[in-house]
Amino acid sequence: MKIAIIGLGHVGLVTACCLVNWGHQVYGFDQDEKKVKQIKEGVPPFYEPALDQLLQDTLASEHFLVHSTLTEAISQCELILLAVGTPISTEGKLDLNQLWQALEDLVSLPILPPYLLIKSTVPPGTTTQIYHRLQDRVEDVICHPEFLRQGNAIEDFQHPNRLIFGLHHEDSQAVIQQLYHPFQKKSHLFQYCTPASAELIKLGANAFLATKISFINQMANFAEQVGANIEEISIGLGSDPRIGPQFLQAGLGYGGPCLPKDLTALSTLAESPLLASTTQINEQQPHFLLQRIESELGDLKGCPIALLGLTFKPNTNDLQASQAMYLAELLLQRGAIVQAYDPVIKDTPCKQLQLAQTIEDAIKGSKAVIIATDWEDFQQLDWSLLQRFRISNLFDGRNLFPYKRAQKLARIFRITYHSVGRPTIR
Ligand code: NAD
Repeated sequence: MKIAIIGLGHVGLVTACCLVNWGHQVYGFDQDEKKVKQIKEGVPPFYEPALDQLLQDTLASEHFLVHSTLTEAISQCELILLAVGTPISTEGKLDLNQLWQALEDLVSLPILPPYLLIKSTVPPGTTTQIYHRLQDRVEDVICHPEFLRQGNAIEDFQHPNRLIFGLHHEDSQAVIQQLYHPFQKKSHLFQYCTPASAELIKLGANAFLATKISFINQMANFAEQVGANIEEISIGLGSDPRIGPQFLQAGLGYGGPCLPKDLTALSTLAESPLLASTTQINEQQPHFLLQRIESELGDLKGCPIALLGLTFKPNTNDLQASQAMYLAELLLQRGAIVQAYDPVIKDTPCKQLQLAQTIEDAIKGSKAVIIATDWEDFQQLDWSLLQRFRISNLFDGRNLFPYKRAQKLARIFRITYHSVGRPTIR
């Protein structure tokens, strides 16, 4: 098929490369000329494992053409995928400015492809509103929410656990089957529903995941008070198939470009006290670790601290709504001298934050070490380094070390090990 993708951010670019891999011809367009130039040169504008090679192969195949005008991108296409950003506004609503702008640009064109698929996350009613605007000019406008996870985006695209389509006409299923031809024999993956349901499935999925994280974090904080161990509790809860083990790891809380914003959007729309509490618990979570650090180290003014990890999760260079960054800011506000190390971050907007080139450089001269992002590199942390640099406190904000292993290492290297919802090991 000939497909146009409008918006070549995380979603649009990964989708473009993967669709070419399935034999489609893709025409990409982004209003950001710098981004377009970078993509044409084969350099992804963000970090995503394996994407640089995939992008270079995709461009070399000549089945992915990146354009700097919308007209060029959509001429001759059978469908458009719209993947522009929908950030959160100050009123806690999804800001649809990019979407309406893209729509106006489309409306001004003489001919439109028959199908428009909305991949951007939008509030219920938006897809149908667009359909009414374009009704005389297209066959259907379909809500097709995206569920890829940053850091695992290619794999998620190639192996989806569901494909949701909010349609206005049942006939549109034929074009969807053509688009997703590798899954034609896996009909269980396809869910067809109303556009409003599809829009709410997306917001509901992220709100539910965020709520699961806040739930386990609240349990962890209580476990700490009563001397229980959240690692054991998570195993016990997660082995009930009605609950499931995922998103039950206690830690500093969730962040990133999607969970907080989608949760806030739904919370505002539905006026939900449950979702408002989810946000509140998440905002509090770094403060619990901070209190622990202060009660162990005392006044943090002038205290050098190593912070391992800045991104909101591993395998991404995204700092949006990162709890690690938030903790760094709290430490700096207390007057601590924060030496941070992150495997992919070489610069941050926070000028007070000192960035080290290696874990060793971050640790050297520090009074304590904090793990703030669960990068795999930190699982391999050499505890003898801590001993060598006379660090006596390790604060594991992501429960990266299984408790039994931490007990062994803490004993060998004489470190006091603090984590979230598990007893301190001294
Ligand atoms: P992004 O901000 O990385 O990319 C959006 C792109 O759209 C930008 O490159 C921007 O320049 C471009 N753009 C904006 N207006 C345009 C216009 N009028 N014409 C052409 N290009 C335009 O966003 P993203 O992370 O790719 O997310 C896109 C959508 O998908 C959002 O609604 C987001 O909530 C949703 N989503 C994101 C993820 C994720 O992990 N990033 C996952 C699932 C869903």
